[in-house]
Amino acid sequence: MYNPFDQSKLADVAEARAEDIDRAVDAAARAFPAWRRTSASERGRLLLALAQAIEANAARLAELETRDTGHPIRDTTNLDAPRTALGFRYFGGMADKIEGTVIPVDPGFLNYVEREPLGVVGQIVPWNFPLMFTSWKLGPALAAGNTVVLKPAELTPLTSLAVAELVRDVGFPPGVVNIVPGYGATAGQRLAEHDGVAKLSFTGSTATARKLVAASAGNLKKLQLELGGKGPNIVFDDADLDAAVGGTAFGLFHNQGQACIAGTRILLHTSIADRFLDAFLSLAKSIRLGDPMDPKTEMGPLTSRIHQERVLGYCEIARREGGEFLIGGKVPGDPALARGCFVEPTIVRAAAHHTVCRDEVFGPFATVMTFSNEDEAIRIANDTRYGLGAGLWTRDLSRGHRVARAIHSGMVWVNCYKRVHPASPFGGVGESGYGREMGFEVMREYTHAKSTWINVDAKIPPFYRR
Ligand code: NAD
Repeated sequence: MYNPFDQSKLADVAEARAEDIDRAVDAAARAFPAWRRTSASERGRLLLALAQAIEANAARLAELETRDTGHPIRDTTNLDAPRTALGFRYFGGMADKIEGTVIPVDPGFLNYVEREPLGVVGQIVPWNFPLMFTSWKLGPALAAGNTVVLKPAELTPLTSLAVAELVRDVGFPPGVVNIVPGYGATAGQRLAEHDGVAKLSFTGSTATARKLVAASAGNLKKLQLELGGKGPNIVFDDADLDAAVGGTAFGLFHNQGQACIAGTRILLHTSIADRFLDAFLSLAKSIRLGDPMDPKTEMGPLTSRIHQERVLGYCEIARREGGEFLIGGKVPGDPALARGCFVEPTIVRAAAHHTVCRDEVFGPFATVMTFSNEDEAIRIANDTRYGLGAGLWTRDLSRGHRVARAIHSGMVWVNCYKRVHPASPFGGVGESGYGREMGFEVMREYTHAKSTWINVDAKIPPFYRR
């Protein structure tokens, strides 16, 4: 593992191969019967203990995340580590609140539905928020009584492995949680194909998701797919421009833009476009790039050299297709940053058919377009095969609701951007995937409905009287 800021070596990590995945799935399968019978409150207690352990180790985890991913330490300290604890705490509280229902069926029968765990759950996560994803993925799966095999991304396994140590330390029984670092094409593929895995929860690219759909066909395992996005961020003419400028910058540049929910298509009403851009571009130019371990740094390097080249490749495509670069589009000139995988904050005025308005770039990169009325804004916003997050800025309450409803996406933020909470469903439509993380909603993903019928006093008509 290498630090994306200075390429220094961080660690050697053992590589799980297909046979290691088999061993992990076996361990999880053996642990499942006892874990599902463990009282819900005990499962919750362990998750709450894990939340506490994350908090007690927050500084260490934040530093490790920063060194492994390049996220600025101010973000891993203020967002990633606390949100990870919040997630485990939420699902710790959830464990004993997964209630069933009684269904009013025919007279004389009692019909009740329990939510049963699925068994061994496979989870594959990407490199953009590896620490936080441990709580998004492990939290609900374990609360519901499943056992888990989680494969972190090959680029960033360190905080997942640190969480695995805490899982052991707080007393989860052996085999309940298995964290296996390895490559996608080998370990990931094996997990996706494995007949002993009842469900696969995946966060990553749409291209990989297609492979997982095919790989999962063998045993028809249940899939939950959390994929890319191309979030529209619409600023209407009546918006509070100061709030819109700040919120747009957070929605785009946080985590160097490496977020599936990033607001990467900025749509501006023509009457405020110049004023918005004056303020927004001057803010973007002032963002402090630097050593992610420096608390003053606001933007660190991208997480890998390959990804930096991919983002710069999109800058090239934008140039070729006639995009107008308002800022950025290159690596920063500062020699102190030369070894890091940096890309300057980049804003390009582009047309709807340009590649950079259609593909997910996954960097500190956004396109700008203008619109002259609400219908046109909605049409541009929905002109994408993705549908994950979207934002809009307006002081008109009715318009806020109306446009939110008209946007084809799993999440919409009005006068804010990129709000996420473990209690609120997270996920997309279209090529952004299906299924939901978080909230009560995710508990459906990690359970199935078992319907039981009891004949209490029903006289069943004799169908076969002779
Ligand atoms: P990816 O899909 O290549 O990798 C994500 C995870 O899938 C990793 O753990 C990887 O090892 C695993 N994987 C890869 N191939 C696999 C296979 N054949 N079978 C099983 N597992 C496999 O995505 P990435 O390289 O992390 O990022 C590339 C793109 O994915 C980004 O540019 C972005 O578009 C998207 N992405 C989306 C999110 C999100 O949160 N929705 C997060 C990260 C990346």
